[in-house]
Amino acid sequence: MAHTIPQDILNALTDVDMPRLAAEPEIPAAVMVQGQRVPVCACGTVVMGSGAAGLRAAVELKRRGVDVAIISQSAWGGTSACSGSDKQTLHTANTSDRGDNFREMARAIRAGGAMDEDTAYVEAVGSVRAMASLQYLGLPLPQDDFGGTLRYQTDHDDVGRATSCGPRTSRLMVKVLATEAVRLGVPFYNQTTAVQIVVNGRNVAGILAIRPKSQTPDNPYGLTLFRCAALVIAAGGPGELYRDSVFPNGCFGSLGLALEAGVALVNLTESQFGIGTRREDFPWNLSGTYVQAIPYVHSVDGQGQEHNFLADTYRTTQELASNLFRKGYQWPFHATRMLDFGSSLIDLAIIRENRAGRRVVMDFNRNPQPVPGDLPFSLDRLDADVAAYLAQAGAVQERPIDRLRHMNPLSIELYLRYKVDIRRDPLEFAVNNQHMNGGIAVDSWGRSNLPGLYAVGEAAGTHGVTRPGGAALNAGQVLGTRVAEHIAASGRAQTAPDGGVEVPLEQALERIDRVLRPGSPLDMRAIKDEVQARMSDHAGILCTPDAVLQALQAATGLNQAIRESGISFKRGAEVARVLQWQQMALASQAVLAALEFYIRQGGGSRGARAICDPAGEGVPMARSGPLQDVRFRLERERDKDEQILVRLVGDTMQVSTRRNRRLDDSARPFFERDWPAWLTGAVFDLNRGQDA
Ligand SMILES: Cc1cc2nc3c(=O)[nH]c(=O)nc-3n(C[C@H](O)[C@H](O)[C@H](O)COP(=O)(O)OP(=O)(O)OC[C@H]3O[C@@H](n4cnc5c(N)ncnc54)[C@H](O)[C@@H]3O)c2cc1C
Repeated sequence: MAHTIPQDILNALTDVDMPRLAAEPEIPAAVMVQGQRVPVCACGTVVMGSGAAGLRAAVELKRRGVDVAIISQSAWGGTSACSGSDKQTLHTANTSDRGDNFREMARAIRAGGAMDEDTAYVEAVGSVRAMASLQYLGLPLPQDDFGGTLRYQTDHDDVGRATSCGPRTSRLMVKVLATEAVRLGVPFYNQTTAVQIVVNGRNVAGILAIRPKSQTPDNPYGLTLFRCAALVIAAGGPGELYRDSVFPNGCFGSLGLALEAGVALVNLTESQFGIGTRREDFPWNLSGTYVQAIPYVHSVDGQGQEHNFLADTYRTTQELASNLFRKGYQWPFHATRMLDFGSSLIDLAIIRENRAGRRVVMDFNRNPQPVPGDLPFSLDRLDADVAAYLAQAGAVQERPIDRLRHMNPLSIELYLRYKVDIRRDPLEFAVNNQHMNGGIAVDSWGRSNLPGLYAVGEAAGTHGVTRPGGAALNAGQVLGTRVAEHIAASGRAQTAPDGGVEVPLEQALERIDRVLRPGSPLDMRAIKDEVQARMSDHAGILCTPDAVLQALQAATGLNQAIRESGISFKRGAEVARVLQWQQMALASQAVLAALEFYIRQGGGSRGARAICDPAGEGVPMARSGPLQDVRFRLERERDKDEQILVRLVGDTMQVSTRRNRRLDDSARPFFERDWPAWLTGAVFDLNRGQDA
């Protein structure tokens, strides 16, 4: 039965307001370092970032009696609060008739390789608790008549473990978690941008941040030290790394910050790219029902001439339309899906159109135009899987906009909020960078190689080569909880640490001074343009060994130039951004170093990137014939078993590999045998060395 959803329901799920933050606590203490008066706030644990992952960690820490504070560049910034898609997805164990099998789910999560088996299992088991606790806090996940969660199939998900509150699932997660953090009285320092991890000996001693509120004549940049025994990095992904990006503006993540503190990063070669509207307008993913409605995708040239370019790719109108539909749940680009007339040929064709200077749009008022010489589009001429889905969804209306409205009215509402009326106008879009699968290397408790430093959410490099849609949000919730359990059990970070921090703070200020040089010929805008162009042009979905090597050399040269000349700035208000761009330049070198290493070792196409090589075995075919210029190397099975680590040693990126951590699939827990480890806290493995 078709329902019309009342406007107030659509509004509530689209315009998600956030709770009011409590007044910020005063920071009464300060130290004098190098003539600057730096305020010092001491607490047991600092959580850096207030996205879904950071808020989860903070709430769970507070519940366990830990003295915790949140610092955030922007309370409701970042991807959780600002990003989404048609049905933004949370991936959790399925409530099918017989219940899910966590081992099966773990296998699915790590199926793309380069992922630790323990982490995958932890995410699978933890997903039930993550979801139930979000529901307890008020997350409105949809249910059937009997309380079962409504599910669907998404990318890299053969079972249908996805669920969603609509386009704004992660913002709603931020809302319920932030409301809880406010209720629990977690101190929240907003407009506070962390710029350097302060290390004392071999331990985390705090995090140095820049706060406009703390600016005084004897503290012109507004530096503030947050002293802590444990630091949880939850700063999200490095969205600013690419020019073509669907991240919200101002997402820098923490890769450069971590590298400078000697922290190991992992799987930086692995990212996600896919179709969406760019951040210059309104950044949003065009997955799920946007393409399952099967709109007319075409390009427009400088003279306003339309080009039915997908008809050059696919052999029949049915093949074209069916692949467009499949893009809904095969959303990220994947090299092997360029073979056998698969759905990633769409991403390739879009990139080619953009490079030819044409704008690519989807028009929801028109069905796909036919492939020359073939029959017109018809809902009666679709591949069986596509026809069955649309029939079951009741999406059999004549026009794409009506099919979309029927399947997901929220997806139309969403764009209307940003003054884009897809009921009327074609929607311009492109292939963008969307997610960093790699990040800070952590063990299954979220610990990095630096004692006291933890990472959660997109900051943590816990995903392998592929990840099922929705696994990112789940991973942040699960690891956010694990980190809190571990910190609380350690007892070391319950209260603010004692001891002087003058020496490490002095070193931190010296490093900042080396970067900030008013007379430098380098400025952050030039660095931004250079880094983003290099990454989008040479480290996007199509890579060649030569271009990646040259890009790495150029990135290394840029960082050398920054070391020699620093970066100029005009106002104190710019300083945080200048430091973030310096760290982003470092992060780009790290990504390219990992990628160049992988390609040089003979690594093939996997996940987001096709490694194009004239000697490659994979040749995508189009209606017009073989696409020799994107002939690519196939993936090698053995690369799935290991992960690439990058560390900054001196001025050099040191690249190495390690095997995936294994989990004995045949081992079964046994209550009486395993209970003591839980009772004594041995389960937290506190005496084991850091092994990330
Ligand atoms: C368009 C789009 C659609 C997506 N759809 C899905 C989906 O359907 N399912 C899914 O699982 N994942 C999806 N993702 C990925 C997912 O949204 C993110 O991985 C996840 O929200 C990251 O959460 P986080 O808490 O780690 O980081 P974020 O939500 O990005 O939060 C980072 C926080 O850190 C703060 N911060 C950053 N730098 C600093 C600093 N230097 N100092 C202090 N604070 C700092 C920011 O202000 C922010 O509060 C999508 C991503 C995008 C871009």
